[in-house]
Amino acid sequence: MIGGYLRMGALDLAKQLFADMSERNLVTWNTMITGFVQAGRGREALEFFHKMQRSARFDPDKITLASLISACSRLGALDQGKWIHNYMQKWGVPMDVVIETALVDMYAKCGCIKRSLEVFREMNYKDVLAWTAMISGLAIHGQGEEALDVFKQMLVEGKCKPNQVTFTGVLCACTHSGLVAEGRQYFQTMRSIYSIEPQPQHYACMVDLLGRAGLFGEAELLISNMPVEPDVFVWGALLGGCKMHGNLELGETVAQRLLSLEPLNHAFYVQLSNLYAKANRFEDAKKLRTTMKDKGIKKIPGCSLIEADGRVHEFSVHVSHDPLMEEIKIVLEKVTRELKLAGYVPDVKEVLLEIDDNEKEQSLLQHSERLALAFGLMKTEAGSPIRIIKNLRICSDCHVAFKFISKIFKREVIVRDCKRFHHFEGGHCSCKDYW
Ligand code: ZN
Ligand code: ZN
Repeated sequence: MIGGYLRMGALDLAKQLFADMSERNLVTWNTMITGFVQAGRGREALEFFHKMQRSARFDPDKITLASLISACSRLGALDQGKWIHNYMQKWGVPMDVVIETALVDMYAKCGCIKRSLEVFREMNYKDVLAWTAMISGLAIHGQGEEALDVFKQMLVEGKCKPNQVTFTGVLCACTHSGLVAEGRQYFQTMRSIYSIEPQPQHYACMVDLLGRAGLFGEAELLISNMPVEPDVFVWGALLGGCKMHGNLELGETVAQRLLSLEPLNHAFYVQLSNLYAKANRFEDAKKLRTTMKDKGIKKIPGCSLIEADGRVHEFSVHVSHDPLMEEIKIVLEKVTRELKLAGYVPDVKEVLLEIDDNEKEQSLLQHSERLALAFGLMKTEAGSPIRIIKNLRICSDCHVAFKFISKIFKREVIVRDCKRFHHFEGGHCSCKDYW
């Protein structure tokens, strides 16, 4: 019954039924944990696991552990992920290629690419999923050259053939590192050597790569030659490039196309509005915001996760249930004062609200990643790295602020946004401001 409820998405009913049970076994617990992980509610899955450890007489089995590793990957819960890995080693839980690949993915997605590589190198047998996990992991960390080296190694060993997903990783590696020539070459070989027909996601990677490099003519040519209709990801990638290079003319056309495909997607309005703001066309930005209001389009709230004291804490812009909120705000204000002394100027151009500069600054201060960072400064040991996971892209102002923070507070700050990792250290970011 619980399994059925979970599969139907009736998580609360499943929870209720579970709570009413007088007796539970490992299968019951595993069903709950796996169901919550699959529903994208990893935080609760981990809570269930802790409860199981406290209250039940069962040891987790491979099913429990595999689900938990995948929860940790999504949440960026490195400490808990490490704990599971140690647990498996300590109790001799037999490893297989599936579990090991999950660990490679978990360490990469939790910001620990070194450990991810170590697990990968220790694997006795690697299938295409394992290779692909490693390539994609390096790619989101902006280690494009290293990702391509792993890919070449895979080809040299010749035991498995790359698939569509492998090529997404390879092209993504080129994109995040600005490797235009390599990207073009691998995109060509997909068809010519491996007989893999490029999919919209591969085109999106290429358009992203070309757009970032400012090669708009080539990007448009590629889109016009697509055998299928370009989707929102392809156009979205082009819009990103336009924003980066301030190409308002093309950006406007692309944004209109995107809005005709998905008229209720707030992200496209925001990007177009930012593009206008960047070009100082505030009247147009204002008009766009009125349209958004009229259509009732709301922004997806930014949300950031940070692990501390063995738990994952969640921060979002308007709602925060953390009782520490007042303390966090005081820390943030103090941090901002120090940043300003070091030369930081808040970039208020990306703030969409119609308010004066002073208030704009305030609303920047409430970005979820800022709250999480302040919490991290409070809760973690001096000198230790701070890891944050954000559901949207990191905004350019927080990006500037985090660079300053990494230098002033001598902290490594690792942020995973919805696209890639940013490692801030000594005043610089690993993305080289290219994201
Ligand atoms: Zn921000
Ligand atoms: Zn960065």
